[in-house]
Amino acid sequence: MATTTNTKSFSNYINGKWSPSESSEVIQSTNPAKPDEVVGTVPSSTKGDLEEAVQAAKAGQQKWKKLSGAERGNVLFKAAEVLEKNLEEVAETMTREMGKTLPEAKGETARGVAILRYYAGEGMRSDGDVIPSTDPSALMFSKRVPLGVVGVITPWNFPVAIPIWKMAPALIYGNSVVIKPASEGAVTAAKVIECFDKAGFPEGVVNLVTGKGSVIGQGLAEHKDVAALTFTGSNATGTHIGQTVAARGGKYQLEMGGKNPLIVAEDCDIDLAVDAAISGGLKSTGQKCTCSSRVIIQEGIYDKFKQKLLEKVGEITVGDGLEEHTWMGPCATKEQYDSVQKYIEIGQQEGAELIYGGKTVSSENNGYYVEPAIFDQVESTMKIAQEEIFGPVLALMKVKTVEEAINLANDVDYGLSASIFAKNIDHILDFIEDVDAGLVRINSETAGVELQAPFGGMKASSSYSREQGQAAKEFFTTFKTVFIKR
Ligand code: NAP
Ligand code: MG
Repeated sequence: MATTTNTKSFSNYINGKWSPSESSEVIQSTNPAKPDEVVGTVPSSTKGDLEEAVQAAKAGQQKWKKLSGAERGNVLFKAAEVLEKNLEEVAETMTREMGKTLPEAKGETARGVAILRYYAGEGMRSDGDVIPSTDPSALMFSKRVPLGVVGVITPWNFPVAIPIWKMAPALIYGNSVVIKPASEGAVTAAKVIECFDKAGFPEGVVNLVTGKGSVIGQGLAEHKDVAALTFTGSNATGTHIGQTVAARGGKYQLEMGGKNPLIVAEDCDIDLAVDAAISGGLKSTGQKCTCSSRVIIQEGIYDKFKQKLLEKVGEITVGDGLEEHTWMGPCATKEQYDSVQKYIEIGQQEGAELIYGGKTVSSENNGYYVEPAIFDQVESTMKIAQEEIFGPVLALMKVKTVEEAINLANDVDYGLSASIFAKNIDHILDFIEDVDAGLVRINSETAGVELQAPFGGMKASSSYSREQGQAAKEFFTTFKTVFIKR
């Protein structure tokens, strides 16, 4: 029997109102720590609902773009204030919906507040350049202008930060948005929209339509009135969306998976490297796109590193993210849990040695808990060294030199984040120059993002665009080049 305490049923949010779907079908979002507990429901919407939202966004954008940047910024500042007031409640919903620990969920929500403030301020900053004309009697300048309606498709692993880091820049530059959040994080995303509603965006500027990726996500990708689509999620879905949007001439941005390496060089501070492997690899149950999954260690330090890692990983407590003593929560969904189990089996079949964990942690409420897992003797050709697991699994790999480590780091399709722990300046500079990753981190874990800096990957991790900071401008605006002759 499903428990329904604290359950919240959301409808869609279209044209400034909570709007029931045409369909009575709903999607239930459950708690991975207690799969019988329903955290909330959202509509499984129809193409008709989506059409209504896109048309509302189209009309809303015409008025929104006429406001000054400062006026738009004021609404974003207000949204930040409302979200900050509701931080505890939003974070608790996140923990219950997708299992990340409460301190992590609070940190993420606070990040959402900071992102809103950053982009609110952007409304007062330069939006073009004066370019000298060859004609002495002319004034020429470029001015950034919005694209129109922006479609936003987001994953479940950062159900507050990712929707906000896409919506905030889209909105400040004068676009309207239709967001379709991941079904597994849709209740938390709806709580963010609740804050946006209270912030007083004009009608049609912000719209939420929940439902199946294959219906609502696909519908957004195909819709001719959606000028641009920003997506974060898996490679399979992203590649398909990119092709769909490109086929109709729309603009798209894809941020996808990772298989991030952490290089441990012989001269590094070994304790810091161990901490980075634990924190960067296992926090959020390994479900960050920037998580370390391959630890590439120079042979002279290999055994010592391994021993210290095993000591530290033994201290990790697995449990319900709402409980204070929990360091690592459950896998976010049954599918994730099954997938992690599958990779732990595959790793063993491939001949890697499972030296720690990987077993199910049983609990009273049948949560999707798994122990952190560490594999030794991992070869680069193995699936566990090539495919994104998105779980608390570390693959240890031994190399002779830093050069070999960098080659191994690059020996995957992905290129999101990469770290090295080292002191030798030549090794550090070689790493910066030669590693194929959008985020290059020295003596710091692979997971870690600052909102004011460009974020995104190389190779299969991204469509070459960047999010966040000033880089977001490139995606969410286009230029008018104005030539005025007296
Ligand atoms: P996913 O399965 O690709 O889903 C992402 C979003 O796409 C969801 O909203 C999903 O809706 C929707 N979708 C599914 N099928 C679709 C279709 N045919 N057309 C349009 N939309 C569709 O990814 P996920 O499992 O939620 O997230 C995990 C992945 O995200 C990992 O690969 C991770 O690395 C990646 N990620 C990347 C970054 C980054 O910035 N690089 C950050 C975080 C996560 P439903 O939920 O309704 O299926
Ligand atoms: Mg859930």
